Amino acid sequence: MSGAGRISARVIVVACGLAAAACGPRGEGQATAARVTVFEGARVITADGPPIENAAFVVEGDRFGRVGRRGEVEIPAGAARVDLTGKTVMPAMIDVHSHLGFLDMADMSMSKDHFTKANLIDHLERYAYHGFAAVCSFGTDMGDLPFQMREEVIQNAALYRTVGRGLAYPGSGPADPSRNDVPYAVTTEAEARTAVRDLALHKPDFVKIWVDDRNGTKQKLTPPLFRAAADEARTLGFRSVAHVFDLADAKELLRAGVEGFTHMVRDQPVDEEFLRLLKERPDVWFTPNLGGMNRSLPGDAAGARPRWADDPMLYETIAPAVIERRLAQLARTPAGGPSPGRVWDLQNTRTLKAAGVRLVLGSDAAGDSNRWIGVTAHMELENFVAAGFTPAEAIVAATRAAAEVLRLNQLGTVAPGKSADFLVLDANPLDDIANTRRIASVYLRGQQVDRAALRTRWQAQATRRSGPE
Ligand SMILES: [Zn+2]
Repeated sequence: MSGAGRISARVIVVACGLAAAACGPRGEGQATAARVTVFEGARVITADGPPIENAAFVVEGDRFGRVGRRGEVEIPAGAARVDLTGKTVMPAMIDVHSHLGFLDMADMSMSKDHFTKANLIDHLERYAYHGFAAVCSFGTDMGDLPFQMREEVIQNAALYRTVGRGLAYPGSGPADPSRNDVPYAVTTEAEARTAVRDLALHKPDFVKIWVDDRNGTKQKLTPPLFRAAADEARTLGFRSVAHVFDLADAKELLRAGVEGFTHMVRDQPVDEEFLRLLKERPDVWFTPNLGGMNRSLPGDAAGARPRWADDPMLYETIAPAVIERRLAQLARTPAGGPSPGRVWDLQNTRTLKAAGVRLVLGSDAAGDSNRWIGVTAHMELENFVAAGFTPAEAIVAATRAAAEVLRLNQLGTVAPGKSADFLVLDANPLDDIANTRRIASVYLRGQQVDRAALRTRWQAQATRRSGPE
């Protein structure tokens, strides 16, 4: 096949995967009819209105058809039927802030050497296994590979979104030593503009800007430098997002025109001026990044074995020896009180929620080696509830609202015409948000994810590779 042929084939795959109803099975002119399946009896959390008890919904090919009360939804002739009585269905989730490729989930080591297509697919599969339809890798992606993979739809895997490499003052970007040097190094306004122009060639989902002095240990981007970056991004038609810590920087970044923030303001309570600035910018959003499994979950006693350690979900895909090693490490960590950022992030999240600011799920998975791909985002949902979200609101933050931020219009709700991406749960997450982890099955693009095969592979890997420390 010629290179051009290969490219156009890929473009077709993308169009089918992403454009709502652009190429449904009927549009493909194939002789075979679309697979039609009716799922009946579940409680359906649509993420766009109240839940539907004893629901029925149709999946036709890779799309949702009718959705409603059982008995009121017209069943197409010849449809297969799946009984979901007693189950709860919710839309597949979206993790807006992750770091793909560096973490080896078999032994939890971090390295540039792990940044291969195989490991990136492994991470996308882990997201799919845990009920995620899409994930955005936020600033540590190297080379062309992530942008190529963004164009692919991989079976049993979440969709890949990427901002490519972020921009940072040298050393002040991603803290993990395996990739501290990955961002564009920016020390002058000219370098900021050149970096954004280079990045723009790849059409990143956002331009990411790190503004964080890492507790006074690093030089961070100054306002003139991040203003130049945000201005260049806007000029070229891209949205910019900042990793932020200090309130003063967050204000200047808003004035500079960034649309989003990864992490919450963490140096002090947000003030009236900040809330006024946010009110003028209803497009602005945050992934609060409340710590995922690095933080004690609500109800965990200080110094006690964290509750996540006994969550059966972890043991489905992660070696027990790896989990025990992390627990031993936590037990050795002296109880020195919460880290500086932990004092204010929950309070500020609560304040911004009350002010109606858009807050969406971002787990910062693999932001360090202790935030495990796929599982930490579920723990982060529990932190959302600790910050004042109802479980229903936390689910919207992880689904519809997150899809809007990434402009994945086909995702985020259970509704006619949307991509049929959903979780079937054994327990109701509206009662307890931790029930998002009680996953019976996951469907992406109308097809059931082969979780058993993935689990078998990961468990075999874990047995082979995780030895004692
Ligand atoms: Zn991050």
